Amino acid sequence: MKDINIASLVKPNVRSLRAYQAEEVPCKVKLDANESPYSAISDQRSAISFKENLQTLNRYPDPEAKKLRGLIAKEFRVKPENILHGNGSDELIYNLITTFGGPVLYPVPTFSMYGIISQALGEGKIEIPLDDKFDLDIEKLLKAIKRYRPKLIFLSSPNNPTGNSFSTDRISKIIESASSPVTRHPSLVVVDEAYQAFSGKKSFLPLLKKYKNLAVLKTLSKIGLAALRTGFLIADAEVINEVNKVRLPFNVNSLSQAVAIEALKNKKQMRSYVSSIVSERKRLVNEMRKIEGVKPYPSDANFILFKVANADAIHKGLLKRGILVRNMNGAVKDCLRVTVGTPKENEVFLKNLKSSL
Ligand code: PMP
Repeated sequence: MKDINIASLVKPNVRSLRAYQAEEVPCKVKLDANESPYSAISDQRSAISFKENLQTLNRYPDPEAKKLRGLIAKEFRVKPENILHGNGSDELIYNLITTFGGPVLYPVPTFSMYGIISQALGEGKIEIPLDDKFDLDIEKLLKAIKRYRPKLIFLSSPNNPTGNSFSTDRISKIIESASSPVTRHPSLVVVDEAYQAFSGKKSFLPLLKKYKNLAVLKTLSKIGLAALRTGFLIADAEVINEVNKVRLPFNVNSLSQAVAIEALKNKKQMRSYVSSIVSERKRLVNEMRKIEGVKPYPSDANFILFKVANADAIHKGLLKRGILVRNMNGAVKDCLRVTVGTPKENEVFLKNLKSSL
């Protein structure tokens, strides 16, 4: 039988889903995925980790990633029982929604996986538009929390794709209202700090002691180790224990664990890459401001959202010249998102942006 209608077998919530768009287009300069332009680990050290681990590829990895979680615990001044490792923080978002269910509340525009995973798992989504400064619309959010009693609230700060950090006091208000015993329906507030290292702003981690309904997501992907697919959920041990029940065994492979451990031993190098990305971001925003017809938005992340008159055409024009940026026109009208690259890549981008206009 060749004419079976597979779509009719698929759950309606999955049938109507659009897969996450990650473009694998051949290009000279790849500035679309918020990756670091620098690999965080030197060839020699990663070669040593790989060599040692190649001899034990017949064995499953450490299911609990003990050594890696130990290092992360030290780095973030928490205990290993406050950390859950994920195959990227994407997987942890999946695990969180599997564990707590919906409704899932988040502002929009934001990282698309909160909505995609909620829908894939058949959970309700509550999307609250950001205000005109791309900050949290606190009144609408507080109202929605009261009305819908979401199980989970995702706040990406700095936010992808807008690039800004949300006001600290607004995030705190949300955590506070979602933990209020008055409502008797607490929500778990997940502050996604994927880009926090580039922001110069304080992490929400110290507030974990005060709020049991707060969780923080971290990832190695944006600081030069995207290929490892390694992220962390940091939260109260009770939250971690619950989410750990739905984690697939052996979810972070041995090579990723080994290389991440090596990289974390040399944080100086990672930090210096982060600072050079931050200074390039400042330069890039300034240069983009000088181009007529281009409006870059302020950024605390390793990417810049910018407005042009015809985003689709400029996206195509850049691609024709070998430069891949992310077309955000669907989520933010007339906007593209460019990841900060090396100084040379940024120069090539600027030159070609001008000629595409
Ligand atoms: N959170 C945010 C806000 C992101 O932008 C991304 C990556 N685009 C992720 C989480 C997922 O990162 P990873 O799965 O690579 O850790």
